[in-house]
Order: sequence, then structure tokens, then C-alpha cells
Amino acid sequence: MSEPIKVTEIFGEDVFNDTVMQERLPKKIYKELKRTIEEGKELDLATADVIAHEMKEWAIEKGATHYTHWFQPLTGVTAEKHDSFISAPLPSGRVLMSFSGKELIKGEPDASSFPSGGLRATFEARGYTAWDCTSPAFVRHDAAGATLCIPTAFCSYTGEALDQKTPLLRSMEAINEQSLRLLRLFGNTTSKKVTPCVGPEQEYFLVDAAKFRERKDLIYTGRTLFGAMPPKGQELDDHYFGTIRQRIAGFMKDVNEELWKVGVSAKTQHNEVAPAQHELAPIYAQANVAVDHNQIIMQTLKRVAGRHGMKCLLHEKPFAGVNGSGKHNNWSLTTDDGKNLLDPGKTPHENVQFLLVLTCILKAVDIHADLLRESASDPGNDHRLGANEAPPAIISVFLGEQLEDVLEQLRSTGSATHSIKGGKLETGVRTLPDLAKDATDRNRTSPFAFTGNKFEFRMVGSRDSIAGPNVVLNTIVAEAFAEACDVLEAAGEDFETALHDLIKKYAVEHQRIVFNGNGYSEDWVEEAERRGLPNLCSMVEAIPALTTDKAVAMFEKFKVFTSAELKSRAEIKYENYAKAINIEARTMIDMASKQFVPAVVKYTKGLADTVIAVREAGADVTVQSEMLAEVSVLLLEMKKALEALKEVEAKAVCMEEGKERADFYYFEVVPAMEALRAPVDKLEMIVDKEAWPMPSYGDLIFEV
Ligand code: ADP
Ligand code: MG
Repeated sequence: MSEPIKVTEIFGEDVFNDTVMQERLPKKIYKELKRTIEEGKELDLATADVIAHEMKEWAIEKGATHYTHWFQPLTGVTAEKHDSFISAPLPSGRVLMSFSGKELIKGEPDASSFPSGGLRATFEARGYTAWDCTSPAFVRHDAAGATLCIPTAFCSYTGEALDQKTPLLRSMEAINEQSLRLLRLFGNTTSKKVTPCVGPEQEYFLVDAAKFRERKDLIYTGRTLFGAMPPKGQELDDHYFGTIRQRIAGFMKDVNEELWKVGVSAKTQHNEVAPAQHELAPIYAQANVAVDHNQIIMQTLKRVAGRHGMKCLLHEKPFAGVNGSGKHNNWSLTTDDGKNLLDPGKTPHENVQFLLVLTCILKAVDIHADLLRESASDPGNDHRLGANEAPPAIISVFLGEQLEDVLEQLRSTGSATHSIKGGKLETGVRTLPDLAKDATDRNRTSPFAFTGNKFEFRMVGSRDSIAGPNVVLNTIVAEAFAEACDVLEAAGEDFETALHDLIKKYAVEHQRIVFNGNGYSEDWVEEAERRGLPNLCSMVEAIPALTTDKAVAMFEKFKVFTSAELKSRAEIKYENYAKAINIEARTMIDMASKQFVPAVVKYTKGLADTVIAVREAGADVTVQSEMLAEVSVLLLEMKKALEALKEVEAKAVCMEEGKERADFYYFEVVPAMEALRAPVDKLEMIVDKEAWPMPSYGDLIFEV
């Protein structure tokens, strides 16, 4: 047995958190920083100097030699540049360890090779990173030693966002402002801040590192590009996993320990649907911290897997025919004094506020379904969304029977039929039923489900930053709140009537987005089309949502993105898509040319020799001859498909960057890739396992 983990002792031990700051910072400085964190005030340099000094001293005690401004550019992964704390050598030849306020709050990575979608070309060449002091700094221990990691946002010198974090922080401000407006209308004078809270459930696969290294597709693209299904699919008994479990358990123990030390509240872990698939969920946190923590979780899973002789696959679809991986993004709005706006509440008063919030969200999701869908798109998720497994590509909202019934009452009553508590609040319903029970019995196929006191957005890809989806959620709901507040603030004395009418109006007008049935069924696709809901089946079809007039108007109104930023993001996405498929196509060409064709040619030679030998021996050669014929036909099919793929790929490479090229990859290159895969997978089922040049699906997912 390994050493037990003393959780309460180690939790957050490597985080420069509130306790540490309170202990180490002079009172005045601590208060100043708290004000910055709570009210978003700018930090002055003198204060920053004191904080930087203490942070450095603390980090050095933890063994840190370097610091890094840890940021999330538009590549999808975190980026970091490490600087050591050492100062220029003194005349004595010795060095001091120093870290200034300026170095803490602002860094200037040479970031010219991060994607900017043309932004930096038109504006300024350089970018800078700025400390997001609402997400605590931490010390990370790895092979490089210990590093002080400072969560930052990344902007160009003229202030354009070049990362995931900046728009997220802007959207959090937008939703805060509009939520407070809404709360004030309901007589709340005490809450000072409303923060979106997020709990992402991270799915991942683990495979043996030695087998991983034998597959170029996994190495270069993170997913298998070829592979026949094993005889056994997703249903396996415990016994099968007997020995595996110990290996995975040891891995999970280490992951938890590392996460707890840096203050990530890893909470739930379990095996997922597919063999070799698992999930890790932390306790929810405020959105920007949740985003950072999710990045830390992904990095930690990969790093720890390496130490255990495994590889962690974060790709949305590492194996065709086996369940893919997603990231359920649980989202709610919480006040600084502990109220959740998505909690139906217990009194009629709370209920009405909740119904307004709920119908505003229905409206937001209905109007901006295309944007939400876009926020979950990446090349990997194209294999998942709408592919009859995880959520369909069509956005709809699941509310559960009881809540749907409440809305139905609202819609059908011309005026309120029941008055509540002295005839004051006329919503048409008595107090709401206990929705928590309904939520437990929830629909698993809905992409956007109400689960008791939060919404669960289930489309998000396993590999992606969750920043994008939360930027969209925060902003579209801020817009709906703002529009509702405009109406209600103007209502004056008629508030109660106006409120009732508005809730009813939203429930009626946006009824089409509510769907409680089976999201995987063919019927739903047709039904959704009748309702006029968008069905964006792929990333390239979803990207235009970023730059529609309604999207630009909304993001500009709430100062989350400028029109230029949105255009640049669309450009980056097209390019990222084209690059990803280009790498996949080239990897397939490489594998087919150098591994599959030679292996099958050799195999047919063996068969041909066998046919001759057996015939000479005077025995029947029907089986051998038939096999030889079958394999040869497939070999020819493979060779033709390979040449066809090479041809379209060569065309794609010559095209100019942008939408047209991304479309070409999706509509021309991807089908050519599928055409090459088909004969190879068939061959894998026929050719002798010994002759097959790489580990099979069975080897990868059943023998971890
Ligand atoms: P599931 O049954 O889907 O696993 P859980 O109740 O276990 O759902 O929660 C999944 C995630 O949702 C966890 O990360 C949890 O912390 C988070 N969560 C729970 N309540 C809220 C909330 N009010 N707001 C945001 N996230 C929440
Ligand atoms: Mg879930």
C-alpha cells in the first residue's frame, strides 16, 4: 500500500491563496489587493511591488527558481515563458533573487507566432500579459523544478484580446452588471456582485505509452485515423478490468494529490462508458478560476499519465465506434452573499424571479443557438456532435416535466388564473414544485439541460478550453437580462403586471427551443427543422455564427469582443481547422504508404507462396485463393484511395488561408480520408495479426 494522503494538510499548499496573503502581506496591502480582486480596481505599482516581493519569498520557500506568466492563447493550450528570479550578477559575482511589481502585473512574451487572425498585423506587433489577480498564483512542481505560475490575460498593445481569458473576464463583468440590475428590480439591495460559477466534468482516455508510440496517428493527431472495432465494444465486465483498475487507481491517486496541492478541488472520479475512458470533475468555482483549473487538470492528467507509463488522450474522438469524450459545462449565477439565481427558491417571490431568469435564458439560447453551437466546435468535436452519441448538433433546452408544466400553465393562461399570497404576484402558478427531484431523473441526450439549480451545457469538447462556451453563455444571458430590465425598469407601478406579461411572452416566443424528448432520434432532426432550429453539423458550418450582425451587435454592446476581434477569431478557427485536417491527411498518407501498403503486399506474397505450395502438395487451395483474391481487391482499393487523398490534399495545400480552404478540407479532404480508412479497416479484420503493423483497438483500449 502506498502512503495515505493527508488531504486537508496538502490542499492548496502550493497556492498563494487568501490565507497566505493575509499572513504575509502588510494589512494595508492585503486590503488594497482584496479591493482590486473584489471590485476590479487597478493595482498601483507600489502595492504590486510589495505583493511581488512576498510572492517571490513564498515561492522560493516552495523551491521555485522561475516564474511564468501563464496564459491561454488561441491555440487551445496554455502557453508559458519561464524567467528565473535571478538578477544581474553583483560585483561579488553572486546573484540576488528578485521579482518586481512590474514583472508581476505585466509580462511581454515574444508572442509573434501565436495566432492573432491578422489582429497584430494591423495593429501592433507585440502583445503583453496582465495578471488576472482574481485567479490565484501557484507553484507547480515538475521535472523543471518548481515554477511560480501567474495566471494572466494576453492582449495586444492596443488592447485587442489575443487569448481566451480576456473576453471571459469582460463577459463576467457584463453578466455581473446586468444580473445586479435584475436583482435590484426584485428588491435585493444587499448583493454586491454576481459571478458565473462553472463546474466542468472532464472526460479522457488512458492508453499504454508503449502502444501509443507504435501509432503515428496517435502521436501526430491525438486520435486513431485507422482501426477496426474489437469484437467486444463498450460493454465489459469488471473482471476484464481487474488488473487494469490498480494501474488506473494509482494514477488517479497521484492526479488528485497534485491537483489538491495547487488548490484544484478534484472531487469525483469514475470510469466512463467506453473501456479505458474516465472522468474527473472538480467542485465548481467562479468561471475564470474554473477555466484555469480545467487547464491545470488537463496538463496534470497528461503529466501524471507519463509517469505511470501511460498516455492521456484528451481528443474528443480517439477511437471511432467507441464513445467520445466531452466536457459537461455546469453553469450557474451566484451572488457574493450566496444566492444562486438559478435556484427556483422556496417562496413565490423567489419563484417569480427564478421564472424570469429561466425564461430569459430560454430566450438567450434560442436567439443565439448558433453561437453556443459554435463555441463547442473544434475539429475533434465534429466526430461527436450529431454523430448519434453525445449531444446532437442541434441546440435545445431540457427543462424536465415539472418545469415544462409550469411554463405550459404560463403560456396557456390568458391572464393569471391563480393569485399568490394575497393576490400580489400573479404568475399563473402557485409556488413551484421541488424541481431537484425532477432534475435527478434527467435527460442524457440534451445538449443544454436544466439540472435543478444550474444548466449543464454538454456539447463542449474534451480538449477545448471552456472559456469560449462560458464567454457565450455569460454574454447572451447578459443581453437577455438587459432587455428584460429595460422593460421592467420602465414599468414603474405596473411592475407586477409587466413582469407577468414578460415571463409569459418569453415562454411563448421561445417555446421552440424547449425539447424534453430523445435528442438522438431521427424524428428530432426533422422536428427541429420544422421549428426552424439551426442544425450545424460541423465546425466549418458553425464558424460564420461568430460574425453575424446579431453576434457583432451583442458582443460590441457588452464590450466583450470588437467586430475586429470576432473577425480575427473566425479567421483563426478556419485556419486551425484546415491545419488540423491537413495534419491528419498527411499522417494517413504516411501510414498507408509506409506501413499498410507494404504490410499487405508482403502478406499477399506469403499467401501466394502458400497457394503454390499447397497446390503442389495436392491439397485444396480454395480458402487460400479466395483470401488472396479478397485481400488483393482491398489492396487495390486502398492504393486508389491513397492516390485520391494525395491529390485533394495537394490541392488544399495550395489554396489561400481562410474560409474557402477550411470548407475544402471539410467537404473534399475529409471524405477522401474516410475513403482510405474503409479498405484499411476491412484489411485489418482479414490480415494475420502478426502481419499488422500496429496495435489494434483491442490492444489499446482493453489492455491498459
Ligand atoms: P453529474 O451528475 O452530471 O455528474 P454533479 O451534480 O455531480 O452532476 O455535478 C457535476 C458538476 O457540476 C460538478 O463539477 C459540480 O461541482 C458542478 N455543480 C454543482 N452545482 C453547481 C452550480 N450551482 N453551479 C455550477 N456548477 C455546479
Ligand atoms: Mg454531467
